[in-house]
Formats: sequence, C-alpha cells, structure tokens
Amino acid sequence: MNILLKTEADQKMQLDIQKIRQDFPILSQPFGESQKPLIYFDNAATSHKPKQVIDRISNFYACENATVRRGIYGISAQATLEFEKSRERIASFIGASSSQEVVFVRGCTEAINLVARSYGGSNLGEGDEVIISALEHHANIIPWQIICGEKKAKLKIIPINEAGEIQVDQLSELISPKTKIISVSHVSNALGSINPIKEIIQIAHAHNIPVLIDGAQSAPHFKIDVQELDCDFYTFSGHKIYGPTGIGVLYGKRKHLQAMPPFQGGGDMIDLVTFAQSTFAEPPHRFEAGTPAIAEVLGLSAALDYVDSIGLDNIHDYEDQLLQYATPKLQEIDGLKIIGTAKEKASLISFVIDSMHPSDLATLLDHDSNVAVRAGHHCAQPLMQFYKVSSTLRASFAFYNTFEEIDIFIESLKRVISMLR
Ligand code: PMP
Repeated sequence: MNILLKTEADQKMQLDIQKIRQDFPILSQPFGESQKPLIYFDNAATSHKPKQVIDRISNFYACENATVRRGIYGISAQATLEFEKSRERIASFIGASSSQEVVFVRGCTEAINLVARSYGGSNLGEGDEVIISALEHHANIIPWQIICGEKKAKLKIIPINEAGEIQVDQLSELISPKTKIISVSHVSNALGSINPIKEIIQIAHAHNIPVLIDGAQSAPHFKIDVQELDCDFYTFSGHKIYGPTGIGVLYGKRKHLQAMPPFQGGGDMIDLVTFAQSTFAEPPHRFEAGTPAIAEVLGLSAALDYVDSIGLDNIHDYEDQLLQYATPKLQEIDGLKIIGTAKEKASLISFVIDSMHPSDLATLLDHDSNVAVRAGHHCAQPLMQFYKVSSTLRASFAFYNTFEEIDIFIESLKRVISMLR
C-alpha cells in the first residue's frame, strides 16, 4: 500500500527517497524464501552502504593500495595524502577546529575505552568519581567500570524518568569536587531519547569537568558541531553513518589529547625509540598505533560526502516524519507498549507486547515479510532493569526507509500477533 503524501514537498521527498534507494544495492535484492526485498529497520545497529562508499573502497584496493605515512614511493605518498585529506573532511563534518583533533579508532567502543584508559588512567585516583547516565550503552558503562575498579574510583549515575529522559536537574547534586569526567550518549540506542547534552556540558563546565559525548546514534541523524556544543570528546562509528565497519572517530579538544598518554604502543605512534625509553608522536598519531584502516577511512569520508549530498537537515526532517507516522499506528495495537516516550526522540521505536517474547516476534516478522527488527537488551541491560523488561523489539529508521515499508511492517506485526495469540 502506498500512502498519499500531503504536500508537494512531501511528494518531492518521496520521489527523492526512491532515487536514493537506488544507491543502496542491498535494498533491491530479493531475500529468503519469499524472495521479497528486505525491509530493514535495524539501522541503529548498523546501516547499509551506498554504492559510492562501496566503489570508493573497491577502487582503493584495485588501484591505490599502499600503506600510509611510511612510503617514499608514489602510490604510498598518494595514499597518505588521501588518508589525511579524509581526516580533514571528517574534522569539517563535525565542526572541529583542526584535523589534529580527529583520532581514528575502530568505533565508539574503542574511542570510549581510549578515553577511559588514557584520560581516566592518568586523572582518576582513589575516591574520584565518573558520572554517566542511566540509559547508556554498555560501551559507555564497562570501560568506566573497569577503570574505576582499577583506580578505586566511583561510578555515579544520572537518573532518568519513566519516559526515558535524563533528569538533568539532578546532575548538579551528583557533581562533587571529586568528579573527574562526565560521559553521556547524545541519543539512546535503546529508547531513542535525545539527551540534553548542551545543558549537561554547561553544568559540567561550570565545575571545570570535561564531557565525553557518545554520538553513535546522533552523528547519522543530525548536524553535529563540536565547537558549538563545546564538548571535550565526541565519538561516532563509521558503520552507523553509511560507512564501513572497523572505523570510527574520536574527536578530542587539542589541550586534552596533548596531555594524554598513549592508549596502545607500536609503530607509527612514536617519536624516538630506544630500549631504555621512548618518546611519542604528537596527537592524533600518538593514539594510532599500527597500520590504520586505510580503505575504511576513505570509505568513511565518501559516506560523509554522501550524507552531505542529501543534507542532514533533510535527513532529520524525513526520519522524523517516519517516526511520527509509525508511532500512532503502533500505539493502536492492542497490548503494545512503547518503551521510551521522551519528548525529543530520534527515529527509533522500542516496544513490548503483552505476554509475547520480542525474539519470537522478530523471528516471525522476518519469516512473514522480510522485516528486520532488533529484539534484545540492546546492550543496555541496566536500562532494561529500570523498565523491568528483559528485552524489547526495536524498529530504527533511516532516510532510505519509506512509509510503505512501515505499512508492511505494521500489517505483518498484526498477523504475527494473531498467530501467537
Ligand atoms: N554507543 C551507542 C549509543 C551505540 O548505539 C553503540 C552501538 N550499538 C555503541 C556505543 C558502540 O558502537 P560500536 O559497536 O560501533 O563501537
């Protein structure tokens, strides 16, 4: 079923989306027994790649492959040039003042581990405190738990309300002279809540406390300006923003990166090495030991070009329309409860259905209509404990999804529910 769009602008958007979908080869392939195309609503886990990204990576391996930073010969110098140009591209994408503030990592998980180990390792002592929120992904819990355990420091949690909104008014009470860093996500991967990070950063800075923003779920959906946010660290993963796996970005203010010790040791991160002692390169290379993910960096740069060619404001507006379209339709279903009803939400809906297990529903949706949704704790077990559920079903939308796909999903969900009842 195709829905009628209200305004001319909507119709144009719909036309554009059809054109955009042709850039994503996987979206037109038949899958499974039904040989129907995939309806992919697991974009919060990872997104699909446009052919511009696939071609960029394939062209590197076919025609440009060489290591970076070391080669005197032509193609290595060219690869180094492209690699560092990509760093500049990424810096401008997030509004960093210099590409020297952009560190390549494998993803958000590695970035947070890097900051916890390097910044936390050298700044935390016994009795010190790290503050995170109650809705964090395990990637923004475990690295802090580990370093706090080692340093005998304390992990404090900003609470949330029933809607899944961070209770920012309680932050000032949690902060003490012992607080050394605050680390929060921009958008919750399990609920979709958009967190009040500007306020958090302002409160933290009034106490001279640096803030790390986990942007895994924000960079793909809205424009980020790290200077305007004034965050101290910001991280996002390439694979969630239509780029390759194995590459991510850690932005860090120059003053912090310069003061931080290396995270890993090896080639490419040194200045002078002797058996007695070694000195280290300036950031960002200090934090990039070993041969980097060269093709992935170029692929990520191509992904950001692609995203910019559509426009993050257009992406955000369209994805919000998908959210506003799907939410009331889901709410009409008997026994369905949406988990996470924050006023400010990204294009993601988590829900449970009375007496039905989310994994049964996800399996049947896959069989019934090739709808890919996520069932599980979404790497946010403490958040599931807060809501007293073990898992939820999560549909997360990207700009290549359509209203028609949402209709198919809802009809399929209704069929699956009546089968299980
Ligand atoms: N933080 C959030 C909010 C996430 O959604 C994810 C990925 N699901 C991560 C961190 C970890 O990202 P990655 O697995 O790419 O390192």
